Amino acid sequence: MIYTCYEMVRDCRADLPEGWSYFAANYVPAIRKLLAHYGSDDPALLERLLLTIRDPQSSLFQSIEPAPERWLVAELRQKALAQLAAPDPEIAIDLETVADALQPLTMVEKQAAWIETMRYSAPETGAMLRVAPQTVEKIRDRAAELVRQKVDAWRRSLLAENGPQLGRAAAASGGQDCLTVKTFLDIIDGRMTWRGREELERHVTGCWHCIDHFCRMLEVVELLRGTQPLSEEEAKPFRTLLGVPARKKRWWRG
Ligand SMILES: [Zn+2]
Repeated sequence: MIYTCYEMVRDCRADLPEGWSYFAANYVPAIRKLLAHYGSDDPALLERLLLTIRDPQSSLFQSIEPAPERWLVAELRQKALAQLAAPDPEIAIDLETVADALQPLTMVEKQAAWIETMRYSAPETGAMLRVAPQTVEKIRDRAAELVRQKVDAWRRSLLAENGPQLGRAAAASGGQDCLTVKTFLDIIDGRMTWRGREELERHVTGCWHCIDHFCRMLEVVELLRGTQPLSEEEAKPFRTLLGVPARKKRWWRG
């Protein structure tokens, strides 16, 4: 039988070593990459995060959605970012001001601008949105100009510098009409298009919770595309950390 993320979530919920062992080998690389991207390659932070997830009280494995791997990594991302310090930016800008400034932009333009708050370069963003890096640059210049008109103090890196605060504000701002993870994945995977779904599109275009959520799912898809599982040897210290017994004694049977 093929062991996948579905089985892993089930086994982690039941606190079985097989689940945690698979988790260490397959998801530590993604977590490590996220932490590094958002500003920390401190191994102690990674360990602390893994132990938080391992905690039986952790909410991570308590509910399962139909696209578990990407759902799981999206949840891991939020957990990882919550561990990171978010120093006050020199010039602060709040989500309402950003929303007001960027209101004239289309959905994709808003995404291109927003992914700058997630510290991705124009080429990286272009890959996520499937548009040319030059297009992303142009949109970002326009977005920066729109923001400049709304604030007293400004610099070009303002959105990026306010990324952690803006991300937290957007994530906390969802409402009843917000799209589900499944809908975003259906769009990203091409199972669904915006055609004939003007109401949904209108909602997302006007909702920064959804723009942020959409961008986070695009990030996860790109992240998973670029990570390989750890080898047996590389995964060993993480298995030990998560309390998985050594492999040779297979006294646990699934
Ligand atoms: Zn929404």
